[in-house]
Amino acid sequence: MPSLVIKAPAKINLGLEVGQKRRDGFHDITTIIVPLELSDSVRISLSRPGIRVATDSKEVPEAEANLAFQAADRFFQAAGIKPSADIRISKRVPVGAGLGGGSSDAAAVLLGLNRLHRKPLSDLRLRRIGLRIGSDVPALLCRKPVVARGRGERVRQIRLPRLGVLLLVPGYPVSTRWAYARLDAFRSTRKSALTSPRLLPKILGRKVRNGELASAGSRVFNSFEPVVFERHPDLARAKRLLLEHGAWAAALSGSGSTVYGLVHRTGWQDPMAALHRHGFRCLKTRSC
Ligand code: ATP
Repeated sequence: MPSLVIKAPAKINLGLEVGQKRRDGFHDITTIIVPLELSDSVRISLSRPGIRVATDSKEVPEAEANLAFQAADRFFQAAGIKPSADIRISKRVPVGAGLGGGSSDAAAVLLGLNRLHRKPLSDLRLRRIGLRIGSDVPALLCRKPVVARGRGERVRQIRLPRLGVLLLVPGYPVSTRWAYARLDAFRSTRKSALTSPRLLPKILGRKVRNGELASAGSRVFNSFEPVVFERHPDLARAKRLLLEHGAWAAALSGSGSTVYGLVHRTGWQDPMAALHRHGFRCLKTRSC
C-alpha cells in the first residue's frame, strides 16, 4: 500500500499589510510568509476507495469540514483519479491561532498526493487548487519564505536567514472573518486612525539578510493589530513583553491569536517565565 509522511509547517507573517476590500469580497494583502519548524505531521496512505481524515485533536473537524479532506477531494477531481486516501494528522500546530495549521495540512495533502501519483499536476495547478481552499495555501505549498500578494496567490520566494522564533499562544482563537469585518468597520468610520504604512518586503528582507535587525524590526507591522489588540489587550501586553525582553521584532501573526517574537542568537532574556506568569503558553521554534 503506497504511503508517505509529510510535514505541514506552521507559518508566521513577517509583516502583514491589508488593503481595501475588493469587489469580490476579498482584501488585497502584502505579507512575508515564513514557514516554521513547528509542524503537524500528515500520513497519507492510498488504500481503500474514498477519502478518510482522522486527527489526534478534538479541536479540528474530521471528514469534509477538514481542509485536508477538501484538498484531497480537489486533487482527485483535478487529476481525474478515483479518490483513495487515508489521511492521519498529528496536530502540533495550535488551532485558530494565525499559524496557518489547517492551510498547511491542506498544502501537505496536495503535495503528498501529487508525489504518490507521480506528479500529474504542475506546481501552478496545485497553487490554483490551493487558493480555492484558503488564501495561505499557495504560499505554504512553497515550504520556503515567500512574499505573498493579491489575495495570497501571487507568491515569490525570498531568501531569509534562519530566525529564532518565540510563539505566544493565548489559548483562544481569533476568527479571521471577524478581524476583517472589524477592520473594515473601523476603516469606514476612522480612516486616518487605521491607515497602515506600506509594507516593503524587498527592503525588509534585505535588512534581515544583512543583519540590520533593529531597523528591520521597526518595519514589521500587522494591519490587524489595532482592532485585535483593542479586543484582546493581553495580546498588546504580550508584544510589549517580548520587545522588553530583547526580541528584535514582535507582531501578531495573521489575524491572531498568536503573537510572535524574533530573537537574536544572544543578548535577549528568555521571557518564558514572565509570559507564563501572564498566562501565555510559549513555544520556541525556528524558521525553515
Ligand atoms: P485562518 O486564518 O485561515 O482561519 P488559522 O491559522 O487562524 O487560520 P487554523 O488552525 O488553520 O487557524 O484553523 C482555522 C479553522 O479551520 C478552525 O476553526 C478549524 O476548525 C478549521 N480546520 C479545518 N481543518 C483543519 C485542520 N486540518 N487543522 C486545523 N484546523 C482546521
